[in-house]
Amino acid sequence: LAQLFRPLDMLGMVYREIKQGLIDMESMFGLIDTPAEIADVPGAPPLQVVGGHVRFSHVEFGYESRRQILHDVSFEVPPGKKLAIVGHSGAGKSTLSRILYRFYDIQGGAVTIDGQDIAKVTQDSLRRSIGIVPQDTVLFNESIGYNIAYGRPGASQDEIETAAKGAAIHDFIVSLPDGYATQVGERGLKLSGGEKQRVAIARTILKDPAILILDEATSALDSATEADIQSALGTVSQSRTTLVIAHRLSTVTDADEILVMASGRIVERGRHEALLDARGLYAEMWALQQAEAAVDEAMAAE
Ligand code: ADP
Ligand code: MG
Repeated sequence: LAQLFRPLDMLGMVYREIKQGLIDMESMFGLIDTPAEIADVPGAPPLQVVGGHVRFSHVEFGYESRRQILHDVSFEVPPGKKLAIVGHSGAGKSTLSRILYRFYDIQGGAVTIDGQDIAKVTQDSLRRSIGIVPQDTVLFNESIGYNIAYGRPGASQDEIETAAKGAAIHDFIVSLPDGYATQVGERGLKLSGGEKQRVAIARTILKDPAILILDEATSALDSATEADIQSALGTVSQSRTTLVIAHRLSTVTDADEILVMASGRIVERGRHEALLDARGLYAEMWALQQAEAAVDEAMAAE
């Protein structure tokens, strides 16, 4: 009997490991169904998305009971608006996205979408309404076309190509000898970080979710790729409720609201100009990144 259970243990371990890494949450749920920890309440109705109004009210959260991570976090993103979340590493930014996707239940407060508590609707309906472009996308050992179609099983080749165009990756794909049938992943063609991210964007365009979460890459992409990705992301997030976790502040100066997080608390909030005027943490981070950009430019000019 013990032997029978060992594979299940392994699966649990793999699941936890991947969850820790938060590599690609959506693929994870496709590979291993029904995580045991979070269950639907009996008879839970599906989430009915009207406009995609996201609200966190006094959220308290810790991964372990001994260490609280989020403290009294409240914000809202009206339908179609863009919220940026910034702050140093470890501040709790990605934790917010994990909670919205209901990877974890919170210990206090509430999270609602269009007035419905996300803990009381089916996880399936919740996760269908949210698209995530993670920092680091893991591809399946399948064709690049399959990897895009994963966003919406059953999509036609036309739809896949339209999504790829929206993510500025179609031209690259057709330049490959096998085109959309090109094998990618560990055992196939290795894509660069920027290319993988564009595959994730195409997948999300195809999924067409009401709510979008972007976890921007930290890794320095060359500026042409960066510009391509920014414009692809801009297209996807248009008229969609968007939460963007931003490492480069210059990419979110147009956000409707910016939350500045430190040690699991929102320490500043507002629009870019107002935050600069406040001369607090945001202004400090901005000055630092501007100085870094100036140094990079000077080095490049040499
Ligand atoms: P950010 O995205 O702002 O860099 P995170 O939200 O990933 O930060 O992490 C916030 C805090 O939560 C960090 O102190 C981190 O160590 C902790 N943390 C993240 N994931 C886990 C986990 N699975 N178990 C325990 N602690 C975690
Ligand atoms: Mg993070």
